[in-house]
Amino acid sequence: MFISSHKKRLALISVHGDPAIEIGKEEAGGQNVYVRQVGEALSRQGWQVDMFTRRSTPDQAGIVQHTPDCRTIRLTAGPQKFIPRDELFEYLPEFVQAFQQFQSDLGAQYEIVHTNYWLSSWVGLQLKKLQGAKQIHTYHSLGAVKYQAVSTIPLIAKTRLATEKTCLETAERIVATSPQEEDHMRSLVSTKGEVDIIPCGTDIRRFGCVSRAEARQQLGLDQDAKIVFYVGRFDPRKGIETIVRAVGRLERQDNFKLVIGGGSRPGHSDGRERDRIESIVADLGLQDVTTFPGRLGLDNLHLYYAAADVCVVPSHYEPFGLVAIEAMASRTPVVASAVGGLQFTVIPEVTGLLAPPKDDAVFADAISRILSSPEWRDQLGEAGRERVETIFSWDGVASQLSKLYKRVLKESSQSEVAAKESSDSAVSA
Ligand code: UDP
Repeated sequence: MFISSHKKRLALISVHGDPAIEIGKEEAGGQNVYVRQVGEALSRQGWQVDMFTRRSTPDQAGIVQHTPDCRTIRLTAGPQKFIPRDELFEYLPEFVQAFQQFQSDLGAQYEIVHTNYWLSSWVGLQLKKLQGAKQIHTYHSLGAVKYQAVSTIPLIAKTRLATEKTCLETAERIVATSPQEEDHMRSLVSTKGEVDIIPCGTDIRRFGCVSRAEARQQLGLDQDAKIVFYVGRFDPRKGIETIVRAVGRLERQDNFKLVIGGGSRPGHSDGRERDRIESIVADLGLQDVTTFPGRLGLDNLHLYYAAADVCVVPSHYEPFGLVAIEAMASRTPVVASAVGGLQFTVIPEVTGLLAPPKDDAVFADAISRILSSPEWRDQLGEAGRERVETIFSWDGVASQLSKLYKRVLKESSQSEVAAKESSDSAVSA
């Protein structure tokens, strides 16, 4: 049995992705889920985990305890309000300072920092310089790939690309969440640096705990309805427009439903995309079949996944895509864009179908193939569940990360011993 004070300390750093916040609104999505789930699972595996993020409103608690050995710590860096991630860079020195102050109040230093997204990677690079921290990094999104998929390149792009390259070349280890992400790093960022592939995970007890019929009953949905489901942030890169246009192409059938979950109410940063999608729905005359239930949470997200006939993930770019494995864990087939990590998670014709991004005609065809055969839908769903159980559980992911951290610590103590031995022999020679 571990005594708490003997546990190894680990800092998970996620400057803009607060692991304790509600998911699905504004910029809160996969990264927040990843950090929280990995943090909690690692704490169950013997690590003392502190997850550092930026305070974004004055009323937020400074410390949120999740498990006895896992907590979120909010540091003050810049104004205490929501700031889009592309505008956060200037506040990072303050974040580093607050992190170091926290350590000195604690009377301890973090030997290992696992940073998330390029902003946090910059923080990690400073901590390497300032205190010799060992850095593990997960990108969550690569600027070099993202900027190929967007129409406007932000001013911060140059800094981001340079930081991502330095991090790849100098961090102790990079965690790629799919082979596709590693390929992108190698072909677009640098051939130097150490990369390990460890995927993202999902909660296999929560997703998949209810049957389709039971979920529909609980949500008040018709047992015979054909239900196409999307959930995620309202961000143009998510390609929600593609599903709406694909559904617009389907032959009208009775009892059809398009459910588009996620997003905040008007007045938030993601409101503009939500308005745009609602206007496309209206232009195509799909209001009567489309519902926008808003942010879905602990009480109902698993029900929507289970209730759906098909879950669509039409992203233009997706380094991993948690939604796909959550749907698969819920035995619901996935129709996804053939981009990034979705090509790793979804096996075409086995757990779902892939389509070229933005190609609403191919998406329409794929959706209609699944809707027209409930037996095939169920087969795809079962195969998806099996795949997730085998490689995408959070406990499995955390145990791979835990081994990686231990390896990095061992390597660094071995290289310190080797350096000491060579300096001792130089002195005695
Ligand atoms: N999510 C949620 N409620 C919502 C919308 C999204 O809980 O209303 C969660 C979703 O279940 C998934 C995450 O947000 O765990 C989105 O992660 P993904 O990797 O698919 O996309 P990202 O947001 O990282 O681009």
